[in-house]
Amino acid sequence: MKVIRLREGKDRSLLRRHPWVFQGSIDKGKADPGETVRVESAEGKFLCWASFSPTSMIRVRAWSFDEHERIDEAFFQRKIQAAIALRARMPIASDAVRLIHGEADGLPGLIVDRYGSTLCAQFLSAGTEKWKGVIADLLLAATGLSRLYERSDSGVRTLEGLEPVTGWLRGDGDTAVVISEHEWKLSLDVAEGHKTGYYLDQRDNRKKFADLVRHYGCQSVLNCYSYTGGFSVAALAGGATEVVSVDSSAPALARATAHVELNGFDPARHTALDADVNQTLRDMLKQGRSFDAIILDPPKFAPTAAHAERAARAYKDINRLGLKLLKPGGLLFTFSCSGGVGPELFHKIVAGAGMDAGVDGFIMDRVGASPDHPQTIYFPEGEYLKGLLILKR
Ligand code: SAH
Repeated sequence: MKVIRLREGKDRSLLRRHPWVFQGSIDKGKADPGETVRVESAEGKFLCWASFSPTSMIRVRAWSFDEHERIDEAFFQRKIQAAIALRARMPIASDAVRLIHGEADGLPGLIVDRYGSTLCAQFLSAGTEKWKGVIADLLLAATGLSRLYERSDSGVRTLEGLEPVTGWLRGDGDTAVVISEHEWKLSLDVAEGHKTGYYLDQRDNRKKFADLVRHYGCQSVLNCYSYTGGFSVAALAGGATEVVSVDSSAPALARATAHVELNGFDPARHTALDADVNQTLRDMLKQGRSFDAIILDPPKFAPTAAHAERAARAYKDINRLGLKLLKPGGLLFTFSCSGGVGPELFHKIVAGAGMDAGVDGFIMDRVGASPDHPQTIYFPEGEYLKGLLILKR
């Protein structure tokens, strides 16, 4: 077993159970991509078993902090079974569930989503890549399913020195899937959708939105960055009479349109706009339009804290426009999925947007990702999605 020795004082984060070691913290030691290594402090004390990523800034990802644990097939079986058992206990109103959420489930670099009877996985680190075959078989055994599609085409693989890989890893057939979420149906394609096909992290917020639309009697709803229209279907289910979905992806919008009919709503209640959100908001303001409720769920403007400033301006801009377009008493459900923008900064940005718009609002709720995207107390990077529900004064 190869040993990675850390520099003096660099053991602190592992001692706090944080699972990453950056390249600069390593004194000596090398291993092959994905190889299991023993990580030790400068004094030679055991810290963790980990996988080695020779090209990544995150050079080491911890598998286990228990010196007696062996990193073998049984280890992955325990982790996978625990993650699935946790989901079984959680309140999840869907047959589409994130079964494995990387670091939070003790499996750094592994994402596994279940869409009905199809699994879709991302292997995003050298360590998960090395154990891919073992993990794939264990996933099928633990779920009793037979199909696993691989979507290892995320940019972060490049940082690990890995090529993008997509395709059936186990089983085969049609990549189109229909799922049930709350009381509605949604379609997706594991081969073509964003990420693994769908944004499962917003599941509970879509339900919350449907209930709010009903409660406040919202008639007109603007869903910005709609993707395949999850929030649009929620708005229709809540009784909205006029819903506009805006996205710059034509295939996503085609699916949003299809979802209106799939759920038995009158297509006349929904409009799909293939356009840039920022421009659309400006145009709508000029046209004197207004809405009872607005969703702002943009893509990650700030992947890391280094991008926070530019991202802050972009967030502020759309929130200012959104607040202006809202009718008095209307609802803004605004999100940021940027890890680099924390909840406090996001609040400040929205406050700044309100100030610029000359609009005051009440914070009715603060939300995060659905419970199957858990966060552990030791891994602050796990907090990424945050949302504010604002009632305009
Ligand atoms: N709310 C969605 C997820 C949104 S993901 C859901 O619940 O499923 C972000 C979306 O923003 C993507 O669909 C992407 O195509 C879209 N997008 C990115 N930049 C955009 C832009 N400038 N204008 C419009 N849409 C954009």
